Amino acid sequence: MLNSFFVDFRRLFPQGHQRLMLLCLVFITLLLLWPTSQRSTQSGMGVLPLLLSIGLQQAPEQLDQLPLNELVAWVDDKLRTEPIEDPFTKIYNIEAGDSLSRIFSRYNLGYQTVQQVMAADQSLLALDVLHPGNRLTLQLDEAGQLQSMELFIHAGKKVLYERVAADEFAYQEIIDEGVWRKNILAGEIFGSFYTSAQRVGLSDTDIYNINQLFKDRIDFSRDIQAGAQFQVLRSENFVEEQGTGQSRIEAIRILNRRQVLTAFMHDDGQYYDANGDSLERAFSRIPLQNNVRVSSHFNPRRLHPITKRVSPHNGTDFPLPIGTPIIAPADGVVTRIENHPFAGKYIEIQHFGGYKTRYLHLSRFNVQRGQRVTRGQRIALSGNTGRSTGPHLHYELHINNRPVNPMTAHIPLARPVPAESRAAFATRVKQLTAEMEQQSELAKQQSAKELVAAD
Ligand SMILES: [Zn+2]
Repeated sequence: MLNSFFVDFRRLFPQGHQRLMLLCLVFITLLLLWPTSQRSTQSGMGVLPLLLSIGLQQAPEQLDQLPLNELVAWVDDKLRTEPIEDPFTKIYNIEAGDSLSRIFSRYNLGYQTVQQVMAADQSLLALDVLHPGNRLTLQLDEAGQLQSMELFIHAGKKVLYERVAADEFAYQEIIDEGVWRKNILAGEIFGSFYTSAQRVGLSDTDIYNINQLFKDRIDFSRDIQAGAQFQVLRSENFVEEQGTGQSRIEAIRILNRRQVLTAFMHDDGQYYDANGDSLERAFSRIPLQNNVRVSSHFNPRRLHPITKRVSPHNGTDFPLPIGTPIIAPADGVVTRIENHPFAGKYIEIQHFGGYKTRYLHLSRFNVQRGQRVTRGQRIALSGNTGRSTGPHLHYELHINNRPVNPMTAHIPLARPVPAESRAAFATRVKQLTAEMEQQSELAKQQSAKELVAAD
């Protein structure tokens, strides 16, 4: 009865206030009950049953003897980490340095369960590196066994792992594309481009990408004149009014002396200047020095040969003798160097413009996490680590965090806008340029007003 009362009670208040309100209520209740419970400890009636009755599990035995302030601190901590739900639902907010096995042991889930969930995650690798701010929701059964688990990444992306057999889990991605909202950021460059861009709200990643785009055309530290103007059209992703943290730059203009630098994203996801010339550096089709045959193709609907369940193959397999050099297909930054029980030793590289690559079952790493790599650089040696049927490379290409077929996907070829879409591109350039000019004027008027006000 109490349990359902608290669940209803939680719905009455907005998210942020629930804990506070609930804490106040628990505090008041305890205050009223304290003298009684102190007396009643001998008669077997204490605070402990009260706490258990509102769904707080695993209270220490000696809780009855705690001073009131420590008891309240304990309840506060419990509510922070385990909001009151039904006793079979466990919510865990991921913190820096967390691992799945450590989180599972909190809920008395053994290493076998960790292995089963990780096996299901092999083709996604979403649980291998846990990001602070993400959230896990675990559903247990009466025996305390894990039935399902949801990984909340952002409002537009969740992954559900469900038990499909006594010793097997399967995953399902729940994706909401949401809406993209345009935002034009405009300013003038005084001091470094970096600080000027930061001032109008561009992120480090945005600034890095802008630098990469114009790398061959301008040296930002040397060639920019004080007072040069810049305009950046950035779109941000929202799902039900909640920002997902995803953004993309759609257009850039930098007006420096008599030179105008431009970049526009075309409908193929690649950047060209206003004349339609490519700003991309070419991407190699495969991360190998020589062409080799494919032993298993990319197949998002692949059926597992034994279970007959959909078990996606998110990459392309190349049979290779152990020790074959793997080379970076494009410039990028190494974002993962991991050893997974099923994917084996693997590397992930983030490239410019929403491209990401993964290399699984390696035998040796030649790079470190955080390292910048250039196209053609040797990054690893192939191998047969993890759950692998024989020596091979499993190669994945992701565009905007979605795996695509590496053998057929559109990859930057550093060619001009194709003839058939040149007219549409020119129209878009004209329209966006006008919008950015207008916003830039508004920003200038605004800063002039601020200067007057400051006088
Ligand atoms: Zn594979």
